[in-house]
Amino acid sequence: GVDPLNTLAVEVVAAPDARIVPLAPGLADGWFENDGQLTKAEIRAVTLAALAPRRGEHLWDIGGGAGSVSIEWMLRHPSLSATAVERRADRAARIRRNAAALGVPDLAVIEGRAPEALAGLPAPDAAFIGGGVSEPGLIDTVAQALPSGGRLVANAVTLEGEAALLAAFASRGGTLRRIGIDRAEPVGGLHAWRPGMPVIQWAWRK
Ligand code: SAH
Repeated sequence: GVDPLNTLAVEVVAAPDARIVPLAPGLADGWFENDGQLTKAEIRAVTLAALAPRRGEHLWDIGGGAGSVSIEWMLRHPSLSATAVERRADRAARIRRNAAALGVPDLAVIEGRAPEALAGLPAPDAAFIGGGVSEPGLIDTVAQALPSGGRLVANAVTLEGEAALLAAFASRGGTLRRIGIDRAEPVGGLHAWRPGMPVIQWAWRK
């Protein structure tokens, strides 16, 4: 019958095998098809916090890999948009598959090499560099493209990438941190800490 006060509860029942995407950033790695080039869940959560999305903003995700950072950016709010730039064709295709599978098919994916591939893209409000951070001119190009108040977050695991981030910190300021995550994994019937490669993260607000 009619429920004039609209008091009937609506019960939402998911199919037993449905996968429900959690609302918090830092999704388990298994949510993303990947070839090992993936910002791991714990680091990704910290990275999204540093990127600090605000309503309506656009992200550049440079060195998109599996697309996890731009996908998690877009999952924060329907008003958010992103462009992922990835030089490898197979990974660019994977980003598109992951975006479709996780419900953000509007993620723009550019197959190309940064910084050249950044020319002509819609201007960002925030940028993440997850690959190619030691490419000559990349940090300068991205810093120039950001508006006042825009955030630049860059992660590095290689010594070359770390050197680029130390130089950026020395010349521009911002914050620098090193994040290490050890996960317990099976070793001969028992368990031991398996350390992930430490990630150097530089964050800067223009
Ligand atoms: N943040 C990603 C993982 C990035 S792995 C995720 O969580 O899914 C780094 C990626 O950067 C690799 O896929 C590599 O192909 C890409 N890359 C490295 N240098 C690049 C450059 N100059 N331009 C575009 N992509 C680059």
